[in-house]
Amino acid sequence: MRPSIIHKNPADWRAPPWLTDLDDARASFGWDSVRRELQGINPGPMNMACLAVDRHIGTAPAAARAVGAEAGAGDTVDAQAQGATALRLVGEDGSARSISFSALSRATNRFAHALLALGLQRGDGLFVLCPRGEALHVGVLGGLKAGLVVAPLFTAFGPEPLATRLQIAQPRALLTTRSLYRRKLQALRPQLGFLQHVIALDDEGDGSPPPPQTLDFHALLAAAPDTPVAARTQAQDPALIHFTSGTTGTPKAALHVHEAALMHWATARWALDLHPGDVFWCTADPGWVTGTSYGIVAPLLHGVTSVVDEGDFDALRWLRTLQRERVSVWYTAPTALRLLMKAGTALVRAHPCPDLRLIASVGEPLNPEVVWWALEAFGLPVHDNWWQTETGGIMIANTLGADIKPGSMGRPLPGVEAAIVRRDGERLEVLREPGVEGELALRAPWPSMFRAYLGQDERYRRCFAEGWYLSGDLARRDADGCYWFVGRADDVIKSAGHLIGPFEVESALMEHPAVAEAAVIGKPDAMLGEMVKAFVVARDGITVDAALQAQLMAHARSRLGAAVAPKEIAFVAALPHTRSGKVMRRLLRARELGLPEGDTSTLEGAV
Ligand code: ATP
Ligand code: MG
Repeated sequence: MRPSIIHKNPADWRAPPWLTDLDDARASFGWDSVRRELQGINPGPMNMACLAVDRHIGTAPAAARAVGAEAGAGDTVDAQAQGATALRLVGEDGSARSISFSALSRATNRFAHALLALGLQRGDGLFVLCPRGEALHVGVLGGLKAGLVVAPLFTAFGPEPLATRLQIAQPRALLTTRSLYRRKLQALRPQLGFLQHVIALDDEGDGSPPPPQTLDFHALLAAAPDTPVAARTQAQDPALIHFTSGTTGTPKAALHVHEAALMHWATARWALDLHPGDVFWCTADPGWVTGTSYGIVAPLLHGVTSVVDEGDFDALRWLRTLQRERVSVWYTAPTALRLLMKAGTALVRAHPCPDLRLIASVGEPLNPEVVWWALEAFGLPVHDNWWQTETGGIMIANTLGADIKPGSMGRPLPGVEAAIVRRDGERLEVLREPGVEGELALRAPWPSMFRAYLGQDERYRRCFAEGWYLSGDLARRDADGCYWFVGRADDVIKSAGHLIGPFEVESALMEHPAVAEAAVIGKPDAMLGEMVKAFVVARDGITVDAALQAQLMAHARSRLGAAVAPKEIAFVAALPHTRSGKVMRRLLRARELGLPEGDTSTLEGAV
């Protein structure tokens, strides 16, 4: 049996010298001080991209120039970051090239000028459908500088999911590549009358003419000046649209504002411990909120180097990237860690990463087994944290200096007030007793809180009650203030009067050495109301038979008790995942019950 806690014991763990006591920070925290730190004493307009890029090189026009007005702190960053590397673009073959803060600033200035020259105005929509790489960064940040509302889209989406998302937000402009446009959008264009400008990057390189009704990205950039530019956006002006992962239904479009940057900056400091000199790698695609908030904005805000991997997951390539790029802080997802675990400890150990000092993960429940495995394989535990598209930034986290209870999501960050609540119509009861399960709620507002679900005002309104935002996730808080994920409210199983969270059952199954991945659903049952059914993916090389099934049943019963353990276990070759890597339990349930599968546009392999 594993111990229940990983102590950050000063005897065998050397805390970085800057590490502050988060309890002190929680007690003295105020968003105004973060605003001052980023903008100086005379804030004025706020533009997320200027704060992220230009602030470091002293070219920021009014919106962001105030940095350094106080205590000279900004000046130090400026001097260091001028020629510093903002992005390390790692190609599929592992080759890498650097882009400095000043080069990024000039390129984003050019793109912003080009957008404005097309007649686009503050508040207009810009969708960015580009593979991970320079153009994606230039598109998103240049769009923000021009005051447009930017939505990065996942390039693996097919025409249908793209059309759905475009229809929801009706942007006036789109940045994409020629090949993506030809494959996915050209045929749909007549239905997208709102789309006035499609700017396409030439990724074909064969001299073929651009697709009709498109403008050439590089020609536009070349014709535009690189002088500083920033629309005078205000803190509360819309900046980004992020689509949710669609794990529980049709994806929702969450709208975020420029001051979300305050949250990105503060949480990247508290939860990811970003500091000058760090090389940071966020593996999420910017088509998901993590990939934009922490893949684009947060590292730039901190003036650190951000690794951008242009390829897809491959265990060996990822380990080489960690090693070669000397990544110091790595932000990834449980699915990726489980895939690495499947690839084996030996492979990881063969790629020592002495610079790596923090591994964090988000997006799905992180089963304790993975935390322990990482400690063995990388010599570092995984610091799980929790947040959602709607929260726009990390809310609850296992921070660097705090002990880790594997399986727990950690504690609310400074500036975040969380609670476990019970909803009864419009009424809300805050459950203060430790150990009680209920809905995870957050005191509204905070800077990166979503300000709307586009086109769904009533749904947005229903997310709030008595000053709290209700997350739709079930959790419990222990006596130390640590939060434990129980399940999504939609996924919780009611069996013989017990409320069973799928995560607990899945974690227990994944402790068994034969199990690579598990997902649990409630299946209607005449006696029990619902019975617990598990879908299990065995590890490579394991023989799947009745004996293994019986062994797993026994293992689960001894760990969980007969009432909570699965009554049925089915072995499957793979689980359905969203493209952002989450298990789609609703699909397993629909398939089990022969029901329609609903929106599967975000399903991996759906296009
Ligand atoms: P949709 O809302 O469309 O169903 P989604 O909720 O998966 O999709 P995201 O906003 O990408 O879309 O994901 C947020 C959700 O992911 C959280 O509400 C929670 O259910 C899950 N999640 C995120 N981090 C964690 C974590 N550390 N532990 C457990 N679950 C997590
Ligand atoms: Mg959600």
